[in-house]
Amino acid sequence: MSSGLNGRVVIVGAGHAGGTAAALLRQYGWTGAITLVGAEPRAPYQRPPLSKGLMLGKVAPEELQLKPEGFYAERQIELLTGRHVTCIERDGQRVLLDGGEPLAYDHLIIATGARLRPLPVPGIDLGGVVSLRTDVDALRLRALVKEGTRVLVVGGGYIGLEAAASARTLGAEVCVLERESRLMARVASQELSAFVAGYARNKGVDIQLGASVVGFEGEQGQVRSAQLADGRSLPCDLALVGIGVLAEQSLAEQAGLACEDGVVVNEEALTNDPRISAIGDCTRRPIALFDRTARLESVHNAMEQAKQVAARLCGKPQPAAEAPWTWSDQFDLRLQIAGLTSPDDQVFVRGDAAGNTFAIFHVSPQGLLRAVEAVNAPMDFAFARMAIGKRLRTPGARLSDSAIPLKEVAIA
Ligand code: FAD
Repeated sequence: MSSGLNGRVVIVGAGHAGGTAAALLRQYGWTGAITLVGAEPRAPYQRPPLSKGLMLGKVAPEELQLKPEGFYAERQIELLTGRHVTCIERDGQRVLLDGGEPLAYDHLIIATGARLRPLPVPGIDLGGVVSLRTDVDALRLRALVKEGTRVLVVGGGYIGLEAAASARTLGAEVCVLERESRLMARVASQELSAFVAGYARNKGVDIQLGASVVGFEGEQGQVRSAQLADGRSLPCDLALVGIGVLAEQSLAEQAGLACEDGVVVNEEALTNDPRISAIGDCTRRPIALFDRTARLESVHNAMEQAKQVAARLCGKPQPAAEAPWTWSDQFDLRLQIAGLTSPDDQVFVRGDAAGNTFAIFHVSPQGLLRAVEAVNAPMDFAFARMAIGKRLRTPGARLSDSAIPLKEVAIA
């Protein structure tokens, strides 16, 4: 077995987290072998543009690449694309590839991401019932959405809403079906949900809340309508199902690693096996600033955990804890969200909601700024993200007064 910076690292999953970890390991001085194994047929790429620029035709598929052509080969990172890891053998410190070949490791990094939450209803296999996770999905969607296409989006989360906005921009007739009583119920405040619903409706998107899909019906194998629990039948040419994702933790579970809706890791992305780390969408991790664990699905999370594991393996200091953050583009809105909310937060709105430029601040009963949801307000977002990271306090009411500069509102 090798030690120091020259052991053999195997990374399972060549997505945003896995690709970043491989690059950072080399950047931080890892001299041993690095093998990056990915089930998809291409090198690591960025998913955020799939529901935005790629669907709108503003971004070409090759522009999604995380790293330029030749990057991995130049850095002696062995990239195996189109290959599945089928098993982790912890005792033998090796993984098995789909062809049965073993790959030995001194350290293993699980970066298997997430898989789509299934919608187990009749008709789900009909043609025209689609989902959106990969570049292949996005290109298929782009080819199917035309002026006047009747698109039903099942699920009013960020990705469903982004795809709905893109489809509407392309001239489709779009209806969003959300089972809950508001959009983005799991991740956004009431105030943001209501604003986004109103904005999308103004743009001509039909938003149906409390609408639960119980099946699809079709003709000649092609979807023609969705059936709702209340007995209604809504006609469509295309149904995009986007009801969230589940952590892809099956390999870890089979190997007996601790999993609780995500592979359980510590603040340095290490699992309960000292030779196995896990990073990205597949993990449940501690959120240092919030004294709790969470499963996060964001680029920032993938990159932060990639830094944690690369720094640990290369003997570098851990990156400073940051507030989790993400973004979403819908029509001409840029939503930017940082921090985590709690039910006991008080909410303060700053800016001009009627003019589509404002920020919603979430403040704890102790006066700690816990989260921000900014709409076309990048300066407020940047300030709040920094303030959350530094655990700054604020007399909340002053946040709502746009006449007071934010830097004068927050106090250490
Ligand atoms: P992934 O990128 O999913 O990569 C995991 C990889 O592992 C996959 O390629 C998978 O095929 C592979 N894999 C799984 N199992 C195996 C196995 N057994 N063997 C080999 N390979 C395997 N985040 C934001 O912050 N902002 C956004 O605006 C945003 N928009 C998004 C829009 C869309 C349409 C989607 C789908 C996601 C979006 N996200 C966004 C989320 C963000 O892309 C993810 O959080 C990020 O990709 C997570 O990276 P990851 O490496 O953990 O997982």
